[in-house]
Amino acid sequence: MSILGDIGLLFARQWIAGVDEADAIRAALKVNSKNEQVILNYLGENFSEKGQARRSVMIYLNLLRQMKINRIRGSISVKPSQLGILISDAEFYRNLSRIASHAYGLGFDVWIDAEEYEYVDRSLGVFLRALKRHKNIGMAVQCKLRRSMDDAMGIAAKGGMVRLVKGAYKEPAAASFEDDDSIRQNYIEVMKTLVSKRAKVMVATHDASIIEEAIELGKRRKQKIKFAMLMGIRSRLAQKLADGGNEVHIYAPFGEEWFDYSMRRIKEEGHAILLLRSIIQQ
Ligand SMILES: Cc1cc2nc3c(=O)[nH]c(=O)nc-3n(C[C@H](O)[C@H](O)[C@H](O)COP(=O)(O)OP(=O)(O)OC[C@H]3O[C@@H](n4cnc5c(N)ncnc54)[C@H](O)[C@@H]3O)c2cc1C
Repeated sequence: MSILGDIGLLFARQWIAGVDEADAIRAALKVNSKNEQVILNYLGENFSEKGQARRSVMIYLNLLRQMKINRIRGSISVKPSQLGILISDAEFYRNLSRIASHAYGLGFDVWIDAEEYEYVDRSLGVFLRALKRHKNIGMAVQCKLRRSMDDAMGIAAKGGMVRLVKGAYKEPAAASFEDDDSIRQNYIEVMKTLVSKRAKVMVATHDASIIEEAIELGKRRKQKIKFAMLMGIRSRLAQKLADGGNEVHIYAPFGEEWFDYSMRRIKEEGHAILLLRSIIQQ
């Protein structure tokens, strides 16, 4: 790596776990030492060749072994387009099943990230099929999408875990809520419905108003709500939640593609200034 690359990586380590599995395990141990669990994600997406998807499978299998050896408390998260959905549903299903079986044997859960709108239907289809065989899998649902309530309830009805997120992608206008308030309102509505059904829900957001609402909801319904945040973003709030006895998970991506991921986080909805502030406040 060039000197510029080294400096960039040093900076990006605020929100990525590193480049390889060894880095990921080190970062996971650090997260665990703060009484938080980790969700490890290997960076890489839009793979159109079987070889690329299967290499990702091998990396996850090795990572899971390392997580077990190092007694990591956490889970992993995979992307449909990383595990072959661009090739076929069958390829994605095969790769996901392999990872889920291995993870189950070692005592870990596997999350499926939500990707662009065009993949949502097929991702959900493969997920629901896999859920019949693998009880240790869950899926992210984007609350900016109008279909999110149906998707979340469909997963919950089959006993699957739902990770609620606002959604990071620019989606077709007709399929999504337009403004921040409507997305937040929909998020809260889906969250309340899931909790009322005693579904397995993870509240993945840095939005303090949603987190407050979730805490109140948990108290009212005498249910423990799981929270999740991205590594390096609002870390103090995450720590406060963990210190308050809440189950907190930190999503920590790693891999050679750390640069693209970092740029995406910086560009996200004009969060550059906030990101700089969160780094200074660490
Ligand atoms: C654990 C986890 C898993 C996720 N998985 C997925 C997924 O599978 N698919 C998907 O599409 N999206 C995923 N996301 C991203 C998510 O969809 C949002 O894009 C992102 O979390 C920002 O939305 P927010 O809910 O935090 O609310 P926002 O309203 O965007 O943010 C609330 C506050 O959090 C802080 N903040 C948020 N983001 C940043 C940032 N980048 N830099 C600095 N400060 C920030 C700011 O203070 C902001 O005011 C995930 C998010 C989390 C936390």
